[in-house]
Amino acid sequence: MTRESAGDTGTDDGDSVVYDLDSDCTADDLERGTPYLAEINGIVDYGVFVDLSDSVSGLVHESVLEGTFAVGDELVVELESVRDNGDMAFEPVDVDDYTVESVSHDYSLTGTDRLEANLGDQIHLEGEVVQVKQTGGPTIFHVADEDGVVPCAAFEEAGVRAYPQVEVGDVVRVTGTPEHREESVQVEVDGLSTLEGEDAEAARERLEEAIETRSEPLDVEPLIDWPAFEKLRPNLREVAQLLRRTVLEGRPIRIRHHADGDGMCAAVPVQIALERFIGEVHEDPEAPRHLIKRLPAKAPFYEMEDATRDLNFALEDREKHGQQLPLLLMLDNGSTAEDVPAYETLAHYDIPIAVVDHHHPDPDAVEELLDAHVNPYLHDEDYRITTGMLCVELARMIDPDLGEELRHVPAVAGLSDRSKADAMEDYLALAAEEGYDEDRLQDLSEALDYAAFWLRYNSGDQLVQDLLQIDSDDEQRHRELVDFFADRAREEVDEQLEAAMPHLEHENLDNGAHLYRIDVENFAHRFTYPAPGKTTGEIHDRKIEETGDPVITVGYGPDFAVLRSDGVRLDIPQMVSELEEEVPGGGVSGGGHLVVGSIKFVKGKREEVIDALVEKMEDAEIDEALSSAAPIDD
Ligand code: MN
Repeated sequence: MTRESAGDTGTDDGDSVVYDLDSDCTADDLERGTPYLAEINGIVDYGVFVDLSDSVSGLVHESVLEGTFAVGDELVVELESVRDNGDMAFEPVDVDDYTVESVSHDYSLTGTDRLEANLGDQIHLEGEVVQVKQTGGPTIFHVADEDGVVPCAAFEEAGVRAYPQVEVGDVVRVTGTPEHREESVQVEVDGLSTLEGEDAEAARERLEEAIETRSEPLDVEPLIDWPAFEKLRPNLREVAQLLRRTVLEGRPIRIRHHADGDGMCAAVPVQIALERFIGEVHEDPEAPRHLIKRLPAKAPFYEMEDATRDLNFALEDREKHGQQLPLLLMLDNGSTAEDVPAYETLAHYDIPIAVVDHHHPDPDAVEELLDAHVNPYLHDEDYRITTGMLCVELARMIDPDLGEELRHVPAVAGLSDRSKADAMEDYLALAAEEGYDEDRLQDLSEALDYAAFWLRYNSGDQLVQDLLQIDSDDEQRHRELVDFFADRAREEVDEQLEAAMPHLEHENLDNGAHLYRIDVENFAHRFTYPAPGKTTGEIHDRKIEETGDPVITVGYGPDFAVLRSDGVRLDIPQMVSELEEEVPGGGVSGGGHLVVGSIKFVKGKREEVIDALVEKMEDAEIDEALSSAAPIDD
């Protein structure tokens, strides 16, 4: 109980103090032997009924009363007795001169971490409303306090919004009773009010302080000792903090990742780490499922189609489920100028964006649209630090219990993107300790690529986890599945190449490099595995092995070309911007890594664009040092 002096309301300054309960005080605020101001609300033969607050009232028996009374009269009383059924009896206190002090209700708060211990008892909690979902029955307010997020069910009428004035973002005080609902705890709401003014400010300050502390990423030793990675670690830590904060604030997270081996090795561990953290923070067992979505992106940049769909889903979720708009996490994707239109689309709404990527970035174009950006090129490193390697550490910063089950993942990521990082040796050794030799890792990488192709726009959560053997329980099935997919992938590549190789055109460039061209539209199967990019890559690999010389391979369709090069100093993004100038009306765009990428153009200008492209390749310098450093992903 809190007592405040309400000043002098007695006849004159007396020595005695009489207390006046605020209207929201309950019997818990009463103390024995203490005089309270009461108001008479009824008179009966055996005494008078008095009110001390909205919910505190009782009888003063006629045997202890002197004089006559009327309804509305004030009387000073103290508690005499409380019956088993809660009925209270009061007796008058004889005071002449007194000062009145008001008593406010003691809202001592029960944090969401102590609900289990208070099942069935009325409690109070204060927090921020992070989601308001209207069900066919009650309205569910998800309230976040310093310890977690709990669903609070308020019932007005079936399907009718309770407390319609309360919105997401409000700081509220909930009075209610924690009850078990299946495996979890939910608070049945008795009262809910928005805090205003100083109360709200104090609560917000308290909540912010707690979030600040709890969002702090955990200090985990990286899986291997790697100086190049150390340069990126502070940035990565910031992303971990941003993601943890996002979870604590109850905001959904949407992950968009490149649909290839490295992209999946990046996205799956982060997804699992976030799901576990969400599970820890939220009482609602469905929260991980509702708050995280992982989706593949076919292009190596954020396509308008994906962005508008993501935005549409986000707005629908806000409408249907009262969710906040999500944070977008781009993985193995998202660092380039090609991402800008999609980002600008989202910028019309409150959707923060974080990027972890290792494609050659255009920081000037994207930086101001991003809330966080990790890319090895921003630290004088390059694509050899793959996104999968970065994100395994990111996942461990979010959930440090993840580790054991991820020890083979960086090696898979590295092999998928053909990283020649000096750390590959350590990563391979780490994987070997878990029973993954290089052949098995290579199979895993092929299998992931194959699965990504057929999954198309689906995330394939459990299937991909079973392939990666993370959060997956059946090792035998994992091995068989990986073997099966890897074998299928290789067979289908062989079939594709059997058809395509006879149509390969060869040319010796003046700079000494071999140029191979293949019309993948007319001389390869379409809409099947492997897609044009991979088909071109496989042809390229065979030619490198065969010749041992610098090789450039161009796989082209009616309006696109895929480029692979080894041993030649290409700068594809630079070539693309030159072609835009040199072939007017060519509609040239594209990019990718420096020596691996893709170009789009208009069909009618194909010959002109490809001829101009070949000329540029002919001018390029031969670089033996680069010869085995080409990343594979496009
Ligand atoms: Mn990659």
